[in-house]
Amino acid sequence: MNHPAILASVRKPLPASLLHALQALLEDRCSIALAVREHHGRDESSYDPMPPEAVVFVQSTEEVAEVLRLCHAHDVPVIPYGAGSSLEGHILALHGGVTIDLSHMNSMIAVHAEDLTATVQAGVTRKQLNTEIRDTGLFFPIDPGADASLGGMAATRASGTNAVRYGTMRENVMALTVVTADGRIIRTGSRAKKSSAGYDLTRVFVGSEGTLGIITEVTVKLYPLPEAISAAVCSFPDNADAVNTVIQTIQMGVPIARVEFLDANGVRAINAHDKLNLPVKPLLLFEFHGTEHGVKEQAELVQEIAAANGAGDFEWATRPEDRSRLWAARHNAYFALLQMRPGSRSISTDCCVPISRLAECISETQIDCENHGVTYSIIGHVGDGNFHVLMLVDPDSAEEIAVAESINQRMVTRAIAMDGTCTGEHGVGIHKMGFLIEEHGANAIHMMRLLKHAFDPRNILNPGKIIAWDEAEE
Ligand SMILES: Cc1cc2nc3c(=O)[nH]c(=O)nc-3n(C[C@H](O)[C@H](O)[C@H](O)COP(=O)(O)OP(=O)(O)OC[C@H]3O[C@@H](n4cnc5c(N)ncnc54)[C@H](O)[C@@H]3O)c2cc1C
Repeated sequence: MNHPAILASVRKPLPASLLHALQALLEDRCSIALAVREHHGRDESSYDPMPPEAVVFVQSTEEVAEVLRLCHAHDVPVIPYGAGSSLEGHILALHGGVTIDLSHMNSMIAVHAEDLTATVQAGVTRKQLNTEIRDTGLFFPIDPGADASLGGMAATRASGTNAVRYGTMRENVMALTVVTADGRIIRTGSRAKKSSAGYDLTRVFVGSEGTLGIITEVTVKLYPLPEAISAAVCSFPDNADAVNTVIQTIQMGVPIARVEFLDANGVRAINAHDKLNLPVKPLLLFEFHGTEHGVKEQAELVQEIAAANGAGDFEWATRPEDRSRLWAARHNAYFALLQMRPGSRSISTDCCVPISRLAECISETQIDCENHGVTYSIIGHVGDGNFHVLMLVDPDSAEEIAVAESINQRMVTRAIAMDGTCTGEHGVGIHKMGFLIEEHGANAIHMMRLLKHAFDPRNILNPGKIIAWDEAEE
């Protein structure tokens, strides 16, 4: 699958002096093996792999800084790599260079349970963090479907099913240690709950996708485990009834912890994949957190709203193992869908709109998909106004890819016209680059480019992602 950024890529061989210096520094943690390079040149997008020339496995901030000093001196691109679960072509080595794999930087640095914060190395994954803090009575809520690294999650400004209650990485990262393009180590933010001290560099790096600096340590907020949790599933006659239930729930200020939507195609897929027996109809999956009394009250209110929108009965999952089974099925939905068409790849979309426009945006998108005969499913973190259309395409069919991309194009234009965004959580990578001018306007993109030029004057940090280096390339 081609993209203007791929077509414009120019690969240069790695200078021998750089390779020798990296091998001297890291010994067998510097690899040029094809299998290792190929593994690091692909993400979960539908793009073909574009491997780097070398992969280095770092263990400390100082090693990252040394690798950057070397690559900067040689003008060689550097691509940070966490768990490789991104979806928009983020980690393709468009111009070759060196991929820095941070997955070995997986130590807990400090847990301050009394302040509800944890500081971890960037390679710690979200599941690992929750395992490490399980005895504190606290948890970290941000849960993208994959077991992503905290560095990658900060770099993509990730969220997941809990964002409706707990926010995204934007709200939950307090401080970062970052290595700049020329190898300087900086700390942004602190563990203080608030600060007015100067420009907010933490939020500049959160969402910068490895294009402004390499995050080596992340300080995040933690939350007390709720006293009571209950989860329920509920089916609806059609998509609009389900989505309207969510809109009314949010508008009434019910502090729901999670509310996920799956259309009938998505339900069929998870039934097959996770051996469930859910009615093959549009479905909402709810979770309520709070005190026993609070959870009961929230659930009653939502049941009333759902009933008024034609819902069937709520099926409750109060035992932890039943809840885990349901949420695991939701998290597996992407892989479940891929199995509905063996050999296919998914073109994922990620629009997010103000909640009042959600039903309209989903319904117009559904009609578009039906009119074009694509194999698709709509699933989403609808409490945030965020949904994904996963379109399964034959990776060898230029025609199918073009149809899916044209649906995506219209969906993004629709979302932006509703004051929404082309990406609620996945980020830009290369796939969404073409939409940024439409969303932000040329002047704002100009300011973003100035930022990139100031932070990375030699354009070595994940080059070719988010925005083009030159205005002329746009
Ligand atoms: C099945 C599935 C479900 C998903 N569901 C969600 C979801 O619900 N919500 C969501 O937000 N995302 C979701 N994603 C996407 C993905 O999990 C997130 O984008 C995640 O944050 C990527 O983290 P990672 O560690 O895999 O990063 P990678 O894929 O390794 O890297 C992502 C980007 O961040 C950069 N990067 C990585 N580490 C660093 C670092 N230490 N410093 C600077 N830059 C860095 C990379 O260069 C790249 O540009 C899903 C993906 C899959 C496959």
